[in-house]
Amino acid sequence: MKSVFVYASQFDRFSLGESHPFKPYKATMVYELCYRFGLFDHPWIRVFEPQPAAEEVLAEYHSPEFIDALKGANSGSFDFTMLHYGLGSNDNPIFKGVFDFSLLVVGATIAGAEFIASGQADTVFSPVGGLHHGGRAHAEGFCYVNDIVIAIKRLLKQGFQRVLYVDIDAHHGNGVQDAFYDTDQVMFVSLHQTGETLYPGTGFETEMGEGKGYGYTVNVPLAEYTDDETYVRAFKAIYPPLVQAYKPDCVVAQIGMDTLKKDPLTNLRLTNNGYCQVIEEIRKSCPRILALGGGGYSVPDVVRGWTLAWALLNGIEPVDHFAGSVGGGVYGHGQDIDSLRDQPHRISDTLKKAVDRYVDSKIAYIVDHVFPIVGVRKATGTV
Ligand SMILES: [Zn+2]
Repeated sequence: MKSVFVYASQFDRFSLGESHPFKPYKATMVYELCYRFGLFDHPWIRVFEPQPAAEEVLAEYHSPEFIDALKGANSGSFDFTMLHYGLGSNDNPIFKGVFDFSLLVVGATIAGAEFIASGQADTVFSPVGGLHHGGRAHAEGFCYVNDIVIAIKRLLKQGFQRVLYVDIDAHHGNGVQDAFYDTDQVMFVSLHQTGETLYPGTGFETEMGEGKGYGYTVNVPLAEYTDDETYVRAFKAIYPPLVQAYKPDCVVAQIGMDTLKKDPLTNLRLTNNGYCQVIEEIRKSCPRILALGGGGYSVPDVVRGWTLAWALLNGIEPVDHFAGSVGGGVYGHGQDIDSLRDQPHRISDTLKKAVDRYVDSKIAYIVDHVFPIVGVRKATGTV
């Protein structure tokens, strides 16, 4: 095993604004908590400081006009024409260094992709990446660029034939879906709160791709209040059969943590216990994994969750090397951390029935409509 944790120490000098929910500093906190729990203390693990991407790298996906507009916003001053590109909105405010910030995200993610493509690493995590809403010529949903699309394009260019993209952020990964909607070289799989009740309002099970890509976009919308058990059940019903049929060369995973019950922007009810079961499934699914951060707005919970994710991706049991000597207030709940794991959470029986009914209908649709196209074999066994 060869693992790389991509740590962009410069990332937390950027701020989208005091009241903006996206906090770049959470990536530094993940690095610190991983350090505290001994999660870099193994010979196969390397921490890598990425450089910002060169400007030309953005052109591997984004339009020249959009790149110019984003570059023009770097001084922090707003010009109303920027709105045409989604820049200067409440979700995507202009701030000083917005272009530098974007280049750093892309630099971190493509460094990860290059490690995987060259065989220098088989497991990479870049917590600053995963901006899955970014469009070719516009910013949206806190995403100024789409580092994921650029990285997947790089992997394909370097000879990978099939890349599986799995997205467990609470929001639908519309930007990535759009980029690869018509190809079977990328299988897109996203579980998310339904677009009926959450931004970006897309990601229905009927969105299945087009042309050669038909069947290679797989969306699993979830009802509000979906808990660990239902989420994990849906994931296990869909993801392993797809992986087995598709046989990806590499998995790119957007492991956003806004599915948690404490997340202020979404309405799912996961704890990090369900999340960790999903991370383990992803770990098992392919020897080569590029994991990217993404959303998550209850910062201490995201930091604990991503620390756990890094431990699981490396098969390590986290041990608090500073137990008793360092307060855990910034990461937890104003107290020392006894464990990185959340308490289990139960939803009411009535809600449970509703979320199960909802997801069962989505699983049935995918089994009937997607599985036959991509070659998932029907389960055999007793009649
Ligand atoms: Zn999200």
